[in-house]
Amino acid sequence: MKLKWGKKRYTFVIIPDANSSVRRFEVPKLIPYIAGAGLLSLVIVTLFLYVLHARTVMVASNLQTRVYSQDTLYATTVQEKNETIEQLQNEVIKLSKQTSDMKSQIDDIRKLEEEVQTIKGSDKKTASADPASTGKAMGGVMHPATQDEVKDMLEQTRTMLTDMNEEVDNLKNSIVNTKEEALAVQQKQRVTPSIWPVDSRTITSGFGLRQDPFTFRPTYHSGYDISAPLNSKVKVTADGVVQSTGSDSLHGNNIVVSHSDGLRTWYMHLNKINVDKGEKVEKGQVIGLVGSTGRSTGNHLHYEVLKNGVSIDPKPYLK
Ligand SMILES: [Zn+2]
Repeated sequence: MKLKWGKKRYTFVIIPDANSSVRRFEVPKLIPYIAGAGLLSLVIVTLFLYVLHARTVMVASNLQTRVYSQDTLYATTVQEKNETIEQLQNEVIKLSKQTSDMKSQIDDIRKLEEEVQTIKGSDKKTASADPASTGKAMGGVMHPATQDEVKDMLEQTRTMLTDMNEEVDNLKNSIVNTKEEALAVQQKQRVTPSIWPVDSRTITSGFGLRQDPFTFRPTYHSGYDISAPLNSKVKVTADGVVQSTGSDSLHGNNIVVSHSDGLRTWYMHLNKINVDKGEKVEKGQVIGLVGSTGRSTGNHLHYEVLKNGVSIDPKPYLK
């Protein structure tokens, strides 16, 4: 069989034109099959390559689309992040401004507290105030805030808040002390005579030497005579306890009230007594009514202040 294939041949005849001689050549019978198979393989390979190329182009296109969409998404995200950062930076600036304003307010409170101390008579040193408060006027050259600037501002705000915390604690303690001292002062004021015993301010006879209205001889007057209409209200001039009530031809209907620090007040020539011995009385409370009982020439109140049993000028005890 091998020999048979080997010997068989195809003869090709080529006739160029009528005048030329015919050319012929022989090829082994196997050659056309080999050529056909080769051509077929070439076509298959070409088709395969074409399909591969088309697929690659498609994948590349898909990838490009995806990359583009990712790129757009990324750009959007970056923009959003930038906006958020900007917003946060603005918040930091706003917060810093608020903190600064609050610090200024705390400084004001501190100043007020110190003023109260001064009024009270305490001699605390005045702390120098931080000139943090600023006006509303704005202007100047603007440039976008850098990250470092915002960070610095944040750091300053944090420090300011820490300082303020400390300051508020100090203020709280200081105000508690001031309140206690103010309460003590208030208590002291309550038990110290400091108001007028009647609404009238007409003093008909002062403290000290005077001409006696009955004998016209120089005598010592131990209190204030305050002229007032009959039955005008007589108020006790400080918190205290009624030490005595009574009536005699000299003092008329009279009340003695004892207060703190050895102080006593005496109300004479009353038309009526409204309190009893041992009764607790509050500053401003009505204890009797103006009259002209005892050694008196007309309706008036004889008001006397005694310190450790000695009559003193009531002037410092009248506002
Ligand atoms: Zn008198």
